[in-house]
Amino acid sequence: MRDLIIVLGDQLDPDAAAFDGFDADLDAAWMTEAAEESTHVWSSKSRTVMFLSAMRHFAQVLRAQGRPLHYTRLDAPGNAGSLAAQLQMDILRLKPARLVMTTPGDWRVLQAIKAVAQANGLPLDIREDRHFFSSIGEFAAHAKGRKSLRMEYFYREQRKRHEVLMDRDEPVGGQWNFDVENREAFGAAGPGAVPGRAVFSPDAVTREVIALVDARFAQHPGSLERFAWPVTRAQALQSLQAFVQERLPLFGRYQDAMWPDEPWLYHSHLSAALNLKLLNPREVVAAAEAAYRSGQAPLASVEGFVRQILGWREYVRGVYWTKMPDYLERNALEAQQDLPAWFWTGATEMICLRDALRQTLEHGYANHIQRLMVTGLYALMLGVQPRQVHAWYLAVYVDAVEWVELPNTLGMSQYADGGVMGSKPYIATGKYIQRMSPYCKGCRYDPAQSSGEVACPFTTLYWDFLMRHEAALARNPRMALQLKNLARLTDAKKQAILERASAIRRGEVGVDAEVHRHA
Ligand SMILES: Cc1cc2nc3c(=O)[nH]c(=O)nc-3n(C[C@H](O)[C@H](O)[C@H](O)COP(=O)(O)OP(=O)(O)OC[C@H]3O[C@@H](n4cnc5c(N)ncnc54)[C@H](O)[C@@H]3O)c2cc1C
Ligand code: SF4
Repeated sequence: MRDLIIVLGDQLDPDAAAFDGFDADLDAAWMTEAAEESTHVWSSKSRTVMFLSAMRHFAQVLRAQGRPLHYTRLDAPGNAGSLAAQLQMDILRLKPARLVMTTPGDWRVLQAIKAVAQANGLPLDIREDRHFFSSIGEFAAHAKGRKSLRMEYFYREQRKRHEVLMDRDEPVGGQWNFDVENREAFGAAGPGAVPGRAVFSPDAVTREVIALVDARFAQHPGSLERFAWPVTRAQALQSLQAFVQERLPLFGRYQDAMWPDEPWLYHSHLSAALNLKLLNPREVVAAAEAAYRSGQAPLASVEGFVRQILGWREYVRGVYWTKMPDYLERNALEAQQDLPAWFWTGATEMICLRDALRQTLEHGYANHIQRLMVTGLYALMLGVQPRQVHAWYLAVYVDAVEWVELPNTLGMSQYADGGVMGSKPYIATGKYIQRMSPYCKGCRYDPAQSSGEVACPFTTLYWDFLMRHEAALARNPRMALQLKNLARLTDAKKQAILERASAIRRGEVGVDAEVHRHA
């Protein structure tokens, strides 16, 4: 054998760079279902099914194209259990002259494969991932010499370089950013009839994977009863089309809004399809821009959506690869609290959190604002160890791959990188959640109270966070107003807040013990 082409679970494109020059007479593809990928963090059932089902469907594509494939199923006798161990076994059996792969999405996996190649004295050809607008090298060039890495400047460069939403050298509509138009909450009447998300009933392949995962990872979090994610390219394209036609026009306006029992709203739900490479971001951005150019969707919505993909998605990947591996260890705020156990069950009386956690466990999905301003915000203000927060986010979402999950969690949400990604910690009282949703109306807590029995834990922890980090935050001019408000609190009030915060940390507030016991 000449080349063994390593295909990981998030590299499911037959046109990926790893297949350039593929010769079916000389080369073969290699895929394996490694239990370690579901256990190194406590991966939810839906995340594991997403990857395994999409991999098995992709294997069918390769076989239909006549490409030789060595595929080891999770339940195959003798499955070595990890990517590295399986690769090692198969190298001895297949004796390739070279290993080829597209850059993986995970630093840990890259090191493991490099080590196997080295141990066997085999050349390893690692090729650029074409499923991004910019290369890791281009981001590094952008980052060189900059003290801070703000997304906005990178995004503008990307718009120009790739000629997205541009009129010659100027941004379409005369401005780069329509964020101020994109922050609405739903009125009292709620979101009304939101177009349903694209759903795909599990076919025979997915059903087999569901049974396997339910048996093999029975104790893992989440449920599979309503698994309906796109697992093939054809399904992913259907999802894209449905989004552009039905939800993109209102995407921007309600991007930050939340509503009970409405996880999907006007979001695209395309992150997993993008991250597994069932879709290319270029076609997604092009479809959105075409909707604007043809008058189907307003500019503010289209720009807001394009910014997420051409801006944020590319930017976090750049941060990941320029800052790893020490990025993983960062803990700028020295947070040491354990993640509350009810994050894995949803058993809390805080109903904004309960809804976000239950949707997460039921579907492997929560929208961005739930991840950032509900679950992430709570963990940040509680002071949870960033590594534990990271392990949770990497485990529970169907779209979770480390290059995108880690900077979002550790940097944007937890401020554990000390300001690489954000210029200040994103902190807020329960009043933010009250403004963006109707959750507080039905909650036993009151977002206006910071101490006492009915105080909203978000509000208590907000003030507690400011007190705990006052000295460090005082050096940040963007925190001046918040610290000024803190200075207005009396000593007695501060003491009452500290006592309530301690009770929250001891697990005496917020947990729904009855539900948690049965979960
Ligand atoms: C703590 C935390 C953890 C996150 N973990 C992940 C993760 O593991 N995987 C993941 O894909 N996204 C992650 N995100 C980013 C974002 O929340 C999800 O991409 C988004 O919610 C997916 O839903 P959607 O496809 O409906 O997105 P939409 O709201 O429809 O946005 C469109 C697309 O833009 C991209 N996008 C939007 N925001 C971001 C962002 N901040 N970073 C990168 N891409 C973005 C995604 O590809 C998404 O599909 C995380 C965000 C936070 C705050
Ligand atoms: S009162 Fe606090 S805990 Fe309850 S829903 Fe509002 S923000 Fe969430």
